[in-house]
Amino acid sequence: MATIFEKIVKGELPADIVYQDDQVTAFRDIRPAAPTHILIVPNKPIPTVNDVQPEDEPLLGHMIYVAKRLAEKEGIAKDGYRLIINCNQHGGQEVYHLHLHLIGGRPLGPMVV
Ligand code: 5GP
Repeated sequence: MATIFEKIVKGELPADIVYQDDQVTAFRDIRPAAPTHILIVPNKPIPTVNDVQPEDEPLLGHMIYVAKRLAEKEGIAKDGYRLIINCNQHGGQEVYHLHLHLIGGRPLGPMVV
């Protein structure tokens, strides 16, 4: 069954999309944890980091590169930001379509686990 994020990628659900190409889609988180909170998701549905295959290595690098570019565009690159991928229950993953959180726009403090 398609996840919410797969439906957003396909344009079947609305989202505030800030970037899209043939590999990834980036859109604003519906419950932002900071002034900038963008999710960068692969267009193909990979459920979790555990499901990443060797052929996905360039795709994951692209996700980070897109996050860096979006951080610049958002004006948060110089002050800094945080990139997070949650995995499965203990990691706090809610949506089972791999996604990279780009969070910034305020001091985030030490990482709380
Ligand atoms: P996770 O905990 O899986 O790493 O993060 C899932 C994120 O997706 C959460 O930060 C949550 O606020 C966000 N989210 C959940 N449903 C939607 C939705 O329908 N649209 C958008 N834009 N974000 C969502």
